[in-house]
Amino acid sequence: MIAARRPAQRFDRARLPDPLAYYAAELGFISSGGVWRSALCPFHKDSHPSLRVNTQTGAFKCMSCGAHGGDVLDFQMQRYGLPFAAAAKAVGAWNEGHHV
Ligand SMILES: [Zn+2]
Repeated sequence: MIAARRPAQRFDRARLPDPLAYYAAELGFISSGGVWRSALCPFHKDSHPSLRVNTQTGAFKCMSCGAHGGDVLDFQMQRYGLPFAAAAKAVGAWNEGHHV
């Protein structure tokens, strides 16, 4: 049996960082309590915390500028302008695998 190597298989969702730890490191301050927390939005000039982040799924949504995504990978891609694979590597969710 020869298994085709598809690049998509390099992404390992199970290795995505814990959303709360990730957002705390990225955003500095995060409000306490509840699943959805508030933080300053990095996608626009924010003076009052308008970014809402889900500490369980990693989803985020800015109530002011409309930036949003479904997980920390989306956040990494959008904040740093990275393509999928580079963002996955940056957050440690990329399986380098073995060289053939
Ligand atoms: Zn915003």
